[in-house]
Amino acid sequence: MIRTTSGRRAGRAAVALAGAALLALPAGCAAASATAAGGPAAKNVILVIGDGMSDTQILASRYLDRGRDEPLAMETVPHRARAATFSADDLVTDSAAAASSMGSGTLVENGSLNVTPEGASTLDETLGVLAKQAGKGVGLISTRDIANATPAGFASSVPDRDLQSEIAGQYLDNGIDVLLGGGESFFLPAGTAGDHCAADETDRTDGRDLFADYAAAGYTVARDRDQLLAADGDRLLGVFECTDMNYDRERTPVEPTIAEMTDAALATLSRDDDGFFLMVEGGMIDPAAEDNDGANAMGDTIALDRAVERVLEFAQGRDDTLVVVTADHEAGGMALVFEERAEETFTAADGRPIRIAWATNPGHTGAPVPVRATGPGSERFDGFVGTEHLRDLYGVLRTAQHGG
Ligand SMILES: [Zn+2]
Repeated sequence: MIRTTSGRRAGRAAVALAGAALLALPAGCAAASATAAGGPAAKNVILVIGDGMSDTQILASRYLDRGRDEPLAMETVPHRARAATFSADDLVTDSAAAASSMGSGTLVENGSLNVTPEGASTLDETLGVLAKQAGKGVGLISTRDIANATPAGFASSVPDRDLQSEIAGQYLDNGIDVLLGGGESFFLPAGTAGDHCAADETDRTDGRDLFADYAAAGYTVARDRDQLLAADGDRLLGVFECTDMNYDRERTPVEPTIAEMTDAALATLSRDDDGFFLMVEGGMIDPAAEDNDGANAMGDTIALDRAVERVLEFAQGRDDTLVVVTADHEAGGMALVFEERAEETFTAADGRPIRIAWATNPGHTGAPVPVRATGPGSERFDGFVGTEHLRDLYGVLRTAQHGG
């Protein structure tokens, strides 16, 4: 339940108007009317998603980065819940269906983005489009290509997640203010070489140079890390690889860290007095875990945690920013095991052995994912009791952002 200051005032006013009859009702009814009258609780909403990052990925990364007893930044976020991730057609979700659950509150089949099993688009329900309609800024960050399934779930609608060239155009049509990640392939005409793609790696079949179209619409366009760090404008497109960016441990000099992309997005979006919605995806945890590559699964989880530190620093001391850290599904079936079952062994920051085994190669699992939250509206996650799903996360975020 969400209780804003204005909501409480509205609740008291309703009680005063209705008089003694309403006062006789159970307290729960008055609280419900206060909720119904409540305005938005959060000026800004920041959603951090570790793709394929469930509790074991987080805990192993803590051990590697800090040792057994010192939590990662994301582990210090106080309100906690757990969510199931199933899609419309399978108990194990892909990233597109999971992003549609979080992005528009809709259960879709694996591979679809905000298109229901009956074929209806839920674009107008997405958190990105709703935020734009409310006059807010919207930003999407991913270490995969920026038109990949996870960011796409918050501001686009296509029947097939592989339509990334279409998604890259929809972001412009939908007025998304900040886009940072990989995916140059989907911004340039097929047969045209880019800064990161060879001529045979570019994908667009409509002949458009989307970099030119974004620039004409007022975006600052950054194609490498130096350009990103120098960027200064109200709208920002940054594309740093042909398709997916590299694992953080294998990052090239032209690629910014996810923390640097987060800093740039926060600096740009926080100029908007109406607030913003920002989604930050650590997108490469998933392919590492699917490949049973513990070093990069943990490396990219730790890199994402550095971005969480920046987000928490931004939110600290403010009462207007809801921060949620979660995952879209588990990947790899990662397990911490005894020595005789270990497939990979790493040395923790405090010298202990981290022994890992994997249940899938490749693939996601249907394990529940953690949800951690802080800021206005975050107390609603304390009401999650074990049957909640990523769709319910959408409800909490939408209510915090728009009231209800
Ligand atoms: Zn995913």
